[in-house]
Amino acid sequence: MLGLMQDRPLLISSLIEHAATFHPNTEIVSRLPEGNVHRTNWGALRDRSKQVANALKSLGIGQGVRVGTLAWNSHRHLALYYGVSGSGAVLHTVNPRLFPEQIDYIVNHAEDQILFFDITFAALVEKLAPVLKTVKAFIAMTDRAHMPAIQVPNLLCYEELLDAQSTDYTWPEFDERSASSLCYTSGTTGNPKGVLYSHRSTLLHTLMELAPDTFGISSSETLLLIVPMFHANAWGAPYAAAMVGAKLVLPGPHLDGQSIFTLMHDERVTFSQGVPTVWLMLFQYLDANPQIDPRSIGVKRIGIGGAAVARAMLERFENDFGAEVVQGWGMTETSPIGVISKLLPKHANTPPEELLKIKLKQGRGVWGVDLKIVDAMGVTLPWDGVAFGNLLVRGPWIASGYFRDEGGAVLDADGFFPTGDVATIDPDGYLQLVDRAKDVIKSGGEWISSIDVENAAMSHPAVAEAAVIGVAHPKWQERPLLLIVKRPGVAVEPGEILAHLSQRIAKWWLPDDVVFVDSLPHTATGKLLKTSLRQQFRDYQLPGTR
Ligand code: ADP
Repeated sequence: MLGLMQDRPLLISSLIEHAATFHPNTEIVSRLPEGNVHRTNWGALRDRSKQVANALKSLGIGQGVRVGTLAWNSHRHLALYYGVSGSGAVLHTVNPRLFPEQIDYIVNHAEDQILFFDITFAALVEKLAPVLKTVKAFIAMTDRAHMPAIQVPNLLCYEELLDAQSTDYTWPEFDERSASSLCYTSGTTGNPKGVLYSHRSTLLHTLMELAPDTFGISSSETLLLIVPMFHANAWGAPYAAAMVGAKLVLPGPHLDGQSIFTLMHDERVTFSQGVPTVWLMLFQYLDANPQIDPRSIGVKRIGIGGAAVARAMLERFENDFGAEVVQGWGMTETSPIGVISKLLPKHANTPPEELLKIKLKQGRGVWGVDLKIVDAMGVTLPWDGVAFGNLLVRGPWIASGYFRDEGGAVLDADGFFPTGDVATIDPDGYLQLVDRAKDVIKSGGEWISSIDVENAAMSHPAVAEAAVIGVAHPKWQERPLLLIVKRPGVAVEPGEILAHLSQRIAKWWLPDDVVFVDSLPHTATGKLLKTSLRQQFRDYQLPGTR
């Protein structure tokens, strides 16, 4: 027997309609590539989104057609989030930090018919245009005065195109399982693969993102979105902000420490999300300007994911900023919320040192995401916080496969998606990431977690950033090599670092050598690019093997 409740589809257009109806005057503040700060609100953004939808219609873009963006976080990009997906087309957010060849591959693979781009990427677009076979129009996201002088066919001006459209548009109703947006994983291995989100998966994910035990976002929030809108839908925050009518602050391309500090401070930001590398840039700015009191920002919560949170980072936010750190684990394929780190009532009297260990775990399961860890044979492992194995996840906002069936069938017999991560889960359901399966260091048949060694190194005051990779060893197969970027102007010797580590990690995990480097390479999504480091140090001779 079926229930008798209304079968209304869960559609992204409902989010912007809600925000505009109940929070029309709540602001959306953007720092644009042109340099100025722009202010609009949810009411006006709905109108702009409807103009986007009408513009797409005038360009012949129908349901299911892919519309690409090469753009930073701004109100213009936000209007595309709603106008493109709301009209039934598919918003394909391309990561502009990828190599040009990868962008070319992705846009062609997705068969984008329109490409919206920020003027920052004008030269890139001009270079790529001849090979982007399916793109019928290139739309520069700016006004007439700032139009780039480039030679591409069918170059249009965003503001002009939209101004010419009516704000009268009725959002279509369609199957909630229809595709809404497309995001390619950055492809640290192999070609990038497309993750195709649906309206339904997006709305369910958004609901969970608001919950008090996850990011706890409400209408009283001012949200600074540092996570790019081209990275897993900015962790869903553009949708979450609309669902509750929160104020949004969008930094455009200005992600340096000073710009982020100024926006946070001036707009009274209460919650901000970003990967560890952007927070390191903020810290560097504050280090250089010790007269600034980080508490003057007034930020209450910092969401961190994409890479492990180091103890030093967590403590700095808690102690210097007076902010709570909410760590999350996820990936493009998980929309991206997988687990979120929040304490339980039972932790009320837990001693600080113990509490810190819990906070540094990636987090606990949320409704909607089933977790399991398995050994090499696929046998399920216990949740004892010790046994570690391959992590698999299942749920309504987890990918079932990749766009155009790249990589073939990916789910296991029970419908779980293999994440490529190795983790433990403790009896309270806290997941701790040991490593990415391909980054784990295999020493004498045992595994060393590069994340743990990096975190231990990062707790030394002279260390700005650390990476640990496995280097071939004649006896042990692999041994860890620690690469360190020092804080500016600080002198430190390898021996001091190793002494510091020996207090914190097992003796056999101690790196065989420490090398100081000027900088470490990162992927387009801000993670340490270990493939490149392994390549660079492939022939490195560890002490004792020279
Ligand atoms: P990519 O396209 O580079 O794979 P994703 O953002 O999808 O980008 O990366 C997901 C991966 O990031 C996860 O599989 C995991 O290895 C890593 N990751 C995400 N969150 C965390 C976290 N909190 N701690 C450690 N690693 C994390």
